Amino acid sequence: MNKVLLIGAGGVGSVVAHKCAMVPEVFGEITLASRTKSKCDAIAAEVKKRTGRDIATAQVDADNPVQTAELIRKTGASLVINVALPYQDLTIMEACLAAGVDYLDTANYEPKDVAKFEYSWQWALQDQWLAAGRSALLGSGFDPGVTNVFTAWALKHHFDEIHTLDIIDVNGGNHGKAFATNFNPEINIREVTAECRHWEDGQFVETAPMSKHQAFTCPDGVGTYEIYRMYHEELESLVKHIPTIKRAQFWMSFSPNYLKHLEVLQNVGMTRIDPVVYNGVEIIPLQFLKAVLPDPGELGQTTKGKTCIGNVITGIKDGKQKAIYIYNICDHEACFAEVGSQAISYTTGVPAMIGAKQMLEGKWRKPGVWNMEQYDPDSFMADLNVHGLPWQYIELTPEQAAGFQVA
Ligand code: NDP
Repeated sequence: MNKVLLIGAGGVGSVVAHKCAMVPEVFGEITLASRTKSKCDAIAAEVKKRTGRDIATAQVDADNPVQTAELIRKTGASLVINVALPYQDLTIMEACLAAGVDYLDTANYEPKDVAKFEYSWQWALQDQWLAAGRSALLGSGFDPGVTNVFTAWALKHHFDEIHTLDIIDVNGGNHGKAFATNFNPEINIREVTAECRHWEDGQFVETAPMSKHQAFTCPDGVGTYEIYRMYHEELESLVKHIPTIKRAQFWMSFSPNYLKHLEVLQNVGMTRIDPVVYNGVEIIPLQFLKAVLPDPGELGQTTKGKTCIGNVITGIKDGKQKAIYIYNICDHEACFAEVGSQAISYTTGVPAMIGAKQMLEGKWRKPGVWNMEQYDPDSFMADLNVHGLPWQYIELTPEQAAGFQVA
């Protein structure tokens, strides 16, 4: 019987706990641990109510690898699913090696003091993980995660060479609050205020944050939204592992209201990540801001509308130009009805469970540190359809692809 340890009891951790509990034949024993045990206990009670399954809970400070390794050994887990924060990736990986178990996360490591999104730190561990015979799967959320698998699937089944990749993440949901972020506010705001980088002709090109945008009409009546080009971490691994890609860009939708609030918060210094002294105490403005913003885990109750996340991919097949759009649409209210969370946590938590399932079933499990596109996409794609994130694809003309005319 497989035993797993989940670390992180936020919006995503709650979805992963529910979804693992719904697949008992793969996830035999589940322990949910986090810095605040009461949050784990509250999620365990919800899981019991919805699925009838008991999950164990524990307190852990995942910044401490010795304490984390001790907990891993105590639970007897063979895999740790890390859905704490990107700051904990390296210490949890260290703990996994010490305890001799496998590892999965949904976001690349970030140092706390600089908003720097890159795989370098985790890729540098490749030799250690190879030597230990343990397997680490990086970025098994939606983006990164499903978007990487969509790209690998397109390459396997539709293209001889991929030339352009545009990942488009639209959240057409409305939570009814003046301002809130859909996942951890600190991580979210660090990401959207960072310099934009996209891949063009063999190098990353830097542009000002949010400086390029356009309208995008989602298929199936989800609506038309303004999407902004920004940097996202899957671009780094995808252009490395699929070297025929000439241009890769990532786009995300933002409402005028979100941008208005963000601009003010930036202008007044509330998004700073360097410490300031207030009443003799050092505080980090962005961390203080997180404490006063709505908890993303609580947004499910009020959020209505849909997400639409997918890839526009062009390239050649049998010597001819070809373009496709592959996407998933997810309904916030349906997610809430199923597991008590909004669609952003859901679209991250379900792929974390599916990635863990591939590892535990031995389909995606080789020693070393791997990104999602480095594995055969088919079993993961099949599981998306079974476990709540069905996908579709449509063929586009090159003109439609160039203008993102997918609907
Ligand atoms: P939350 O802030 O809601 O939850 C984070 C959890 O981690 C909290 O329970 C927190 O505990 C816990 N935690 C923080 N520090 C520690 C620590 N030192 N030791 C133990 N536990 C700790 O975040 P989300 O659920 O929104 O996001 C979780 C992860 O998912 C993040 O890494 C995020 O970047 C990633 N993500 C990935 C996406 C993708 O598509 N790939 C999309 C969205 C998110 P406490 O309650 O005590 O603070």
